Amino acid sequence: MSVAVYPGSFDPVTLGHYDIIERTAQIMDRVIIGVLNNQAKHPLFSVEERIEMLESVTAALPNVEIQYFDGLTIDFARKNHAKVIVRGLRAVTDFEYELQLAQTNRVIAPEVDTMFLTTSLRYSYLSSSIVKEIASLGGEISDFLHPHIAEYVMKKYAEIKMESKEDDDE
Ligand code: ADP
Repeated sequence: MSVAVYPGSFDPVTLGHYDIIERTAQIMDRVIIGVLNNQAKHPLFSVEERIEMLESVTAALPNVEIQYFDGLTIDFARKNHAKVIVRGLRAVTDFEYELQLAQTNRVIAPEVDTMFLTTSLRYSYLSSSIVKEIASLGGEISDFLHPHIAEYVMKKYAEIKMESKEDDDE
């Protein structure tokens, strides 16, 4: 059985991520999305929230599951008996870092390979951080996310706004 892990922050999952997930699910028997629990990145959403969002958008893909992990991606791959790590490549700016990461991982774990899927052109500009920036400034994000994920993000910023207003009022 071919098993792949697709690691990332998914803070939040975008249509660009989903495109990679859907295409990987057609190639591999089993796809395990690994949500990185990395507080150093100061994620907007908790791991639980990110998993919940991923579960909702992948509900119709029977060979896709979600787990969280911390530590090395290779260890996560090994634990799940995955021979493949999937990464998405958007532009040359991704390339250098991804190449370095893949080559380092292959030295540490020669039995695991990294598979790159090039992004669909219509999502090549898309990142979670740009979506968060637009949403934080009150912009429209429905072209970039599944509708209920967009709602989730807008709700989060509304909560943050309320909290900072309450702090100001104190
Ligand atoms: P990370 O913190 O590991 O970069 P991300 O959630 O930003 O986590 O991305 C996870 C993976 O998804 C990475 O391989 C990234 O290149 C890929 N990715 C992110 N956005 C897109 C997109 N719009 N199209 C294709 N791949 C993407």
